[in-house]
Amino acid sequence: MTISLDALRREGDEFHQTISRELYQTGAGLKKTAELQAIYARYANVLSDDALDMVRELFRDARDGSDEQRSARILLEWEADARVSRELAELDEREIAWESSAVVRMEDGRGIQYQQIAIDIANAKDRDERLRLERARASLVAKELAPMRQERFRREKDIVEGLEIAGSYNATFTALSGVNLPSLVEECRAFLRDTQPMWDDVFAEVVRRELDIDPKDATRADALALMRAPAFDPYFPSKRMEPEVRRQVADMGADATAKGRVIFDTADREGKNSRAFCAPVRVPQEVYLVLRPHGGQSDYRTFLHELGHALHFANTRADYPFEYRWLGDNSVTESYAMLFDHMLHLPGWLARYTELGAPRIPGFLRAAGFEELQFLRRYCAKLIYEHELYGGEHSWQSLPDIYVDTLSQATSFRYDPADAFVDVDPRYYAARYLRAWQLQAVIGEALVERFDEDWYRNPRAGPYIVEQLFAEGQRELAHELAERVTARTLSFAPLVRATEAMLVSV
Ligand SMILES: [Zn+2]
Repeated sequence: MTISLDALRREGDEFHQTISRELYQTGAGLKKTAELQAIYARYANVLSDDALDMVRELFRDARDGSDEQRSARILLEWEADARVSRELAELDEREIAWESSAVVRMEDGRGIQYQQIAIDIANAKDRDERLRLERARASLVAKELAPMRQERFRREKDIVEGLEIAGSYNATFTALSGVNLPSLVEECRAFLRDTQPMWDDVFAEVVRRELDIDPKDATRADALALMRAPAFDPYFPSKRMEPEVRRQVADMGADATAKGRVIFDTADREGKNSRAFCAPVRVPQEVYLVLRPHGGQSDYRTFLHELGHALHFANTRADYPFEYRWLGDNSVTESYAMLFDHMLHLPGWLARYTELGAPRIPGFLRAAGFEELQFLRRYCAKLIYEHELYGGEHSWQSLPDIYVDTLSQATSFRYDPADAFVDVDPRYYAARYLRAWQLQAVIGEALVERFDEDWYRNPRAGPYIVEQLFAEGQRELAHELAERVTARTLSFAPLVRATEAMLVSV
């Protein structure tokens, strides 16, 4: 049965609302299990072969640079993603089942739930124990999880290349996402080169001081322990988190509930996720921000991040078509979420809205700068590696060595070959994060120029952010948005400046 563009938009919107409400209710503990299969079956029309053919044709026929092409590209990316998800559902379910039941066996006979092991590694103060846990984890992953994941990526590559949109997996991603993958990979290589001296300096110093080991011996397990550092958590009390952040958004001249469209679900409830999340059930009319405050800096970061998403969805123009409100380049929504969570990098914000206090702020910023640079370098390396993985020029057997070399060199922590297919975000989510990071940084600089260092409490900044940024939904690609709002191109340069400033803060 053929489907018209209007019907696809209408039913697509309903489909997303239904799925999102189901996920909100299960994540908030209002419902035991998500019945997604039934929803997919009810809306089979939306993700049918006919719908895919229809938008593929629209995309091919549309004039370059037209609104029709923009819409068709977004819809085609959505149809293609949904197709891949549907065909991989069985493999993904098998993997989830494995993850929830697998047990890591230690040499001394102890058994530890796979899902618990990363937390235990991060919390292990004794290094020998940390490395024992890591060895046991890696050997189980290499034997059982890695083969499943490798099969998954092989299948994904075949399915995407079978869509006949572009010649290869990588070319298809570039065509559908609007992200120029080869040039982003080059930017990542340049970023790694440019920040190498800065990284070498801080890496050796921090590893010696915090872990008391030779920097040459540091592994990814040590990195997990290092990033876990809870030293500043008491200054981020759970009770003050929501009221202080609401106060800051009000200082900025905006409303943390977007006139009631963002609904804060803060009640304690059995079965509710412990991590905050945002569920846009109707965009922009009904957006849930679900949280269970427990305090600490990572809780603040997650809350701010999810609030950025929530305010974005809740302020999107209601008259935009489905694809601009629900779909599009996720680098955009991730950049708004990062704009909010990166307020934790602003000394004035920390002084005003947390209990950190002036004397502790420089130390906090140096630690945050180290973490930021580590994550940026890790994500650059991930993208470079994933580009090889999907590129098809290397045999699947040779990829683990490439993974270890690329990630270890970039982060200075030694990675394990067992993770070569496990530590991969499907369909280049790393590219979205990297573009979001760049966009967040360039918007941050533009906000300082327009509204001063303390833009986050300038009553003119909030309305500007709402009207110029959030209202557009995800109509634009990240680089188009950067050019419209800041008249600058996306690049790593503002991130290098911000990170440098944090690391030298005294
Ligand atoms: Zn996010």
